[in-house]
Amino acid sequence: MTSFAELNALPEEQLNNLNELGYQTMTPVQAATLPAILAGKDVRAQAKTGSGKTAAFGLGLLQHIDASQFITQSLVLCPTRELADQVASALRKLARFMPNIKVLTLCGGLPFSVQRDSLTHAPHIIVATPGRLLDHLKKETVSLDALQTLVLDEADRMLDMGFADALDEVIAWAPEKRQTLLFSATWPAEIAAISRRIQRDPLTIEIDTVD
Ligand code: ADP
Ligand code: MG
Repeated sequence: MTSFAELNALPEEQLNNLNELGYQTMTPVQAATLPAILAGKDVRAQAKTGSGKTAAFGLGLLQHIDASQFITQSLVLCPTRELADQVASALRKLARFMPNIKVLTLCGGLPFSVQRDSLTHAPHIIVATPGRLLDHLKKETVSLDALQTLVLDEADRMLDMGFADALDEVIAWAPEKRQTLLFSATWPAEIAAISRRIQRDPLTIEIDTVD
């Protein structure tokens, strides 16, 4: 299976949007993970940088968003502000055909008060670094009560940066019934351990072992 249409799960508007974005065929990691992701299963995937992981989880989480509900339904955790900005911009492109979708990044380096003000209307999707998100959760400026999809992007780099405890703390605020997707370029033992703690019967995909 190589075309997005063959998934038989994406709406016509999204297939047109992908065409306009120049996405002709699925990359290997997208072909391997999207059927399970779109079916709501937990997935953990190792694939090198540039392999198209953002659209793999992005297409999945957008499918589960109810745009008429102004509550946070998806959370993507990233190691750095640069990566969070990239993911947010990619998600906005994938969501171009969905009016009113609000994607907000919450990262360190920007004033908390400005972020708090932009949270008066809850975003559908938050893309965040773990530390700053934790600050917002503790101050109750963010709620994860209605979270459906949790994504750990570049999980290996988040662990390298010392976010392991912050990740566990953030996840404790999320509902137990949720879809959890874990993406990583490498697969050290710590990643396997965190997957065991936070995922339920995940599909495991390994596209290649070199980064
Ligand atoms: P990763 O997160 O695995 O490092 P990205 O998700 O950032 O990779 O994707 C790398 C590049 O490939 C991006 O520029 C993205 O727009 C592009 N891309 C992703 N999926 C496809 C596709 N199916 N067809 C063409 N380009 C794609
Ligand atoms: Mg990526």
